[in-house]
Amino acid sequence: MLAYEVGDDFMKFFYQAERGELDPFVLVFEGSVPNEKIKKEGYWAALGTDPTTGQPITSVEWIDRLAPKALAVIAAGTCATYGGIHAMSGNPTGAMGLADYLGWGWKSKAGLPIVNVPGCPVQPDNFMETILYLLFQVAGKAPMIPLDDQLRPTWLFGATVHEGCDRAGYYEQGDFAETYNSPKCLVKLGCWGPVVNCNVPKRGWMMGIGGCPNVGGICVGCTMPGFPDKFMPFMDEPPGAKLSTGLAGAYGSAIRTLRKVTNSTVNKEPKWRHARPELTSGYRPTTY
Ligand code: SF4
Repeated sequence: MLAYEVGDDFMKFFYQAERGELDPFVLVFEGSVPNEKIKKEGYWAALGTDPTTGQPITSVEWIDRLAPKALAVIAAGTCATYGGIHAMSGNPTGAMGLADYLGWGWKSKAGLPIVNVPGCPVQPDNFMETILYLLFQVAGKAPMIPLDDQLRPTWLFGATVHEGCDRAGYYEQGDFAETYNSPKCLVKLGCWGPVVNCNVPKRGWMMGIGGCPNVGGICVGCTMPGFPDKFMPFMDEPPGAKLSTGLAGAYGSAIRTLRKVTNSTVNKEPKWRHARPELTSGYRPTTY
């Protein structure tokens, strides 16, 4: 929805880009692509009004108009990248991600593939860093942007939540939270972190603060192509977690016991030093 008073101002850039008067430009798509081409029962999302027909201009129409002219195309957020919640099984709007719509092998006129920056919402620094990388690339200052097979920048999505989680030490020691309000590993409460590609626990949400499991929230896999269908029902132990937590529990409790012994040893000074009940330092305490 655009406010009546500012809609035209906002839309003028779309028309300029379409006419080739804005060049070069980067097309950033946010939200899923509701697709009237395969769900013709209505129109689901639109921007602006076509002056010739008086009809709304649908999102897919704008993609058709602008994508071929864009220097680069970025999908921002999980809905734009893979369809997200709107693309759940049975959705009535034909919603899908941008690469599902344009095709996974699509290339911009500059030869760039679609760049996917998933997240619900997209982590702001991840998004800005990706745009910055592309600007360096088109200026000839950086090599081709490295993307994985899901078109995600590899330096942002190469590691799992688990690998960056503050609670991973508890997991390794088989020490699991049974309720919220615990600093321990949340896997038994439904955390999917071990199999989810996301750097938010490392990077935080804003100014380095946050990062779902770090602050007590289970990871529900919001950055993933299979989200949400493959991660539901939320808050149930993920498949395989019983086995892995069982193994980690057995191994972890043995490790925890041994570490307690080591911890108590290294919490004491070596015996040749002078930490003992009697004073052996030569210091003569003042007596009052
Ligand atoms: S809370 Fe989740 S991400 Fe963190 S250590 Fe446990 S399973 Fe891994």
